[in-house]
Amino acid sequence: MTKSDCIFCKLANGEIPTRSIYEDEDFNVILDMNPATKGHALILPKQHADNLYDLPDDVAAKILPLAKKLATKLTETLKADGFNLVQNNKECAGQTVNHFHLHLIPRYENDGQRILWNPTTPSAEELDATLNTIKGN
Ligand code: 5GP
Ligand code: ZN
Repeated sequence: MTKSDCIFCKLANGEIPTRSIYEDEDFNVILDMNPATKGHALILPKQHADNLYDLPDDVAAKILPLAKKLATKLTETLKADGFNLVQNNKECAGQTVNHFHLHLIPRYENDGQRILWNPTTPSAEELDATLNTIKGN
């Protein structure tokens, strides 16, 4: 299903023209209009899902093989030196468009970009507490 007020539904399904680098029955992959680097693209499912939590398993299962294929192609054609996959969910995590998308970001030596976090230094007890919370102990 698509959502009538969703820009990525319209881009994914060709209702708004865009620079598509790949298309199949489930996905459209388009160039990001404000790329981090040359070749920065977005894998868009044609079917609307707000984010990863909302993504059907059968769609999710197809995304990493597609990302691998396109990362390989972009790296070869653009002579990239490395690659980031980035995927943001919810506002606090940097999601600005509420239609699931996976960023494909070719990286180049000295491209000046930084896709990293600030490492923290929890104690062993804090790490154990986190582990126990996740495991439900
Ligand atoms: P987010 O921050 O939600 O993970 O990423 C949204 C991305 O979508 C941004 O990198 C932004 O540049 C891109 N974007 C937003 N609107 C459009 C659009 O209309 N067309 C294209 N090609 N990219 C868009
Ligand atoms: Zn949508």
